[in-house]
Amino acid sequence: MNWISNYIRPRVNSIFSRREVPENLWTKCTECGTMLFHRELAENLNVCTSCGHHMAITPRDRFTALFDGGIFVEVDVPAPTSDPLNFRDQKKYPDRMKGAQKKTGEQEAMLVAEGEIGRTPIVAAAQDFSFMGGSMGMYVGNAIIAAAERAVEMKRPLVLFSAAGGARMQEGILSLMQMPRTTVAVEMLKEANLPYIVVLTHPTTGGVTASYAMLGDVHIAEPNALICFAGPRVIEQTIREKLPEGFQRAEYLLDHGMLDRVTERGKMRDELITITRMLMGLDPVVAGELPAPDEADQAEPEKTAEAESATKD
Ligand SMILES: [Zn+2]
Repeated sequence: MNWISNYIRPRVNSIFSRREVPENLWTKCTECGTMLFHRELAENLNVCTSCGHHMAITPRDRFTALFDGGIFVEVDVPAPTSDPLNFRDQKKYPDRMKGAQKKTGEQEAMLVAEGEIGRTPIVAAAQDFSFMGGSMGMYVGNAIIAAAERAVEMKRPLVLFSAAGGARMQEGILSLMQMPRTTVAVEMLKEANLPYIVVLTHPTTGGVTASYAMLGDVHIAEPNALICFAGPRVIEQTIREKLPEGFQRAEYLLDHGMLDRVTERGKMRDELITITRMLMGLDPVVAGELPAPDEADQAEPEKTAEAESATKD
């Protein structure tokens, strides 16, 4: 009796009570309103399976889907001085930072990693809009410099995924200083003859579009991403005129020569592989392991004959 009540019953109870009720099993698409099962949505890289609306994706999830086998190594970013202005709005800046760190599980608004895509070694950096609006502060500046330095050191292309509401006001002028700093970082890549590819995701705005997000060799955007310096609402209020439909959205900017391509998230990886390999002067990626059958049959005997005659000579 003791054994049953003391050992079995608590275990049975704990098994049942431990069964977590997963929250947010379903996500509602903000565009079409369809309820999407979270696993299906994650498999589709947070793109609505019904209407193709691109929802936000964290840098970590993006990298897992981007790099071969989901394997990447994070690049260290030097930590900047925290709260240099002793800034306080409704909350103290350090408290706001702690809140964002807890919410996202990330240290700051940018993640830098190195790894291979389609066996092409690259360095990648991705901005996290869920971390204080992906705002560009000293850390983001340091992250871009670290990414560029690593790319130059390893002679690899740099692929950057931007997403930002602009500069981080809590760091005042120091955040604006990141515009020239990151511009110099991009210049380092150009001097080393290395490709710099920017993938603009929703939304990329403010000082970020006035610096590193618009200095790429190739600019690709995700569908319907808002990309602008000043937002449409501000412009509308200033000029007091109705703006054309789709103004400052990816497709509109592509039509007006601001972008090179608009690519769906599901096709982005293949496109980045093609572009980086092309710009690095590498052969196109081989889809399979084996050479074509008749090529192998014909080429091999000739080669061995040549090799034999060569050794005889
Ligand atoms: Zn949808």
